[in-house]
Amino acid sequence: MESLIGLVNRLQNACTLLGDYGSAGDSVFSSVPTLWESLPSVVVVGGQSSGKSSVLESIVGRDFLPRGSGIVTRRPLVLQLHKAEPRVEDYAEFLHLPKQRFTDFSMVRKEIQDETDKMTGTNRRISPVPIHLTIYSPNVVNLTLIDLPGLTKVAIEGQPEAIVRDIESMVRSYILKPNCIILAITPANQDIATSDAIKLSKEVDPLGERTFGVLTKLDLMDKGTNAVDILEGRAYQLRHPWVGIVNRSQADINSKVDMVAARQREHEFFATSLDYSHLAGRMGSEYLAKLLSKHLEAEIKARIPAITSLINHSIDELEREMSHIGNPIAVDAAAQLYTILELCRAFERVFKEHLDGGRPGGDRIFTVFDSQLPAALRKLPFDQHLSLQNVKRIVSQADGYHPHLIAPEQAYRRLIDGALSYIKEPAAASVDAIHSILKELVRRSIRETEELKRFPALQNEIASAAYDALERFRGDSRKTTLRLVEMESSYLTVDFFRKLPMEPERGSAGSPISSTTDRYSEGHFRRIGSNVSSYVAMVAENLRYTIPKAVVHCQVREAGRSLLDHFYIQLGRRNSKQLGALLNEDPLLMERRQRFSRRLELYQSARDEIDWVLRSE
Ligand code: GDP
Ligand code: MG
Repeated sequence: MESLIGLVNRLQNACTLLGDYGSAGDSVFSSVPTLWESLPSVVVVGGQSSGKSSVLESIVGRDFLPRGSGIVTRRPLVLQLHKAEPRVEDYAEFLHLPKQRFTDFSMVRKEIQDETDKMTGTNRRISPVPIHLTIYSPNVVNLTLIDLPGLTKVAIEGQPEAIVRDIESMVRSYILKPNCIILAITPANQDIATSDAIKLSKEVDPLGERTFGVLTKLDLMDKGTNAVDILEGRAYQLRHPWVGIVNRSQADINSKVDMVAARQREHEFFATSLDYSHLAGRMGSEYLAKLLSKHLEAEIKARIPAITSLINHSIDELEREMSHIGNPIAVDAAAQLYTILELCRAFERVFKEHLDGGRPGGDRIFTVFDSQLPAALRKLPFDQHLSLQNVKRIVSQADGYHPHLIAPEQAYRRLIDGALSYIKEPAAASVDAIHSILKELVRRSIRETEELKRFPALQNEIASAAYDALERFRGDSRKTTLRLVEMESSYLTVDFFRKLPMEPERGSAGSPISSTTDRYSEGHFRRIGSNVSSYVAMVAENLRYTIPKAVVHCQVREAGRSLLDHFYIQLGRRNSKQLGALLNEDPLLMERRQRFSRRLELYQSARDEIDWVLRSE
């Protein structure tokens, strides 16, 4: 049956593979600790050559760690022990070499060495990137231990000066975490007051609540001295009992004393010692392994509610984040087309809200008609065009050598034509102003369409299709408004001429003009000018209302109705690959989704597994 420790081990490995590992800075959510951080583990701390690796080996009961003098452990080693069924042969696996089983433990040692050198070079540097090793054996207890480089005092030949501080801060970064159980290793042949392990653990755990004191090299103490004061907790008090250990000496290792024999000797050492026999029941590496395993299990159990709530919290957060990012896109053409159409519709909805109200922007169209156009019309130089001089010139040019009889029809037409052609400019300006407002609304609508955010390629295509359409509408609108203006000058009605005030000075209305001198007097031209002026004013007043109608009809209404119609027709002709390209997402976003969804999967399975293990306990 799965143990809690085994479960936590697997979760830790999954976190590591995901990169959901280490300090909260790595985490997507800086507010929550990562799952990895919330899972308890045992970290081995001590000075160089204090016996850390030896303790680990004797807990495992196998030789598998690189050794030698000086700094051998140069990367953290996360060592997971799995109790296997009886009669299963011991084997080891590295996380970085999936599915490769090591049964030869000297090869495990070699792999650790090679992996260390790979990261650090052979020049005795250190790296904070852990190596993950799992050992399966019927002879181990379920336990996770992390071996760290030993604390040193000075950098030796070939090492960077900073190494002393680097090692210390690496160790500190592990043991700072409140869920870290500290295995503080001190050699018995050194004064406890000078112990690096105790010094550092006291700093992060002043009450000794999560520190296990381990005293190694009891066999090497000076004759006549013993460590009973320490082992009985009088010299330095911790909440947990001290454990004394006797590992193999270098001479033992050199003469290949095996683990079984070593354990046996350790056992005998305590059982037969005059100083320690009364403590023999709670001394030695076997006892230490059991003690740690039991403690770790209890620790995990105590933390399960907190871990579960962290997991639930993270799942909520991840799900929220995923719903922002949106689902991955379909692969077949029909589904892609459907998605694209949905996205276009969403854009059109936003765009219409801008036009028809609900979102700002449409009001600017009204401003163009209500103030820009009338102001531009008012500013037109009709006066100049209808100055006495100009009227005279045009009348006489139009008359040629025929003096006109009643009203100079040709001249009227030319004067009106000339005046009205001025209106073309403000009319065209209105068309352009509306065009740029609509373009801006398209831009804004694309920005504001939440659903489109993921799809930069589609955003671009929608924008360019919409701009094309607006360009067409503008062409149409320009033609229509110009035509409106031209219509006003192309046919002057009989009515117009009928209503022209006749020379009123002499004779009754309708009486023929009697003298040619009168006909060419200043008053006559002035009258022609003012007749044209009032006609033009009337037409301008009309156009002030009809130009907006034409513009709204051709541009605004069309934009609201058929902005993407052409685009839809084109879409129908595209194949799956082209449609897929439209749905290409921002690569950063795709990466984010992938990261989040893997993490979500991990957290969900963690939740299920915790439930399952708890229920089967
Ligand atoms: P680390 O640097 O802390 O990992 O220390 P090691 O486990 O590599 O041990 C350093 C040296 O001390 C090795 O030569 C070990 O054989 C020796 N050693 C460790 N523990 C004991 C012990 O309890 N008794 C004796 N006699 N030697 C030990
Ligand atoms: Mg070591």
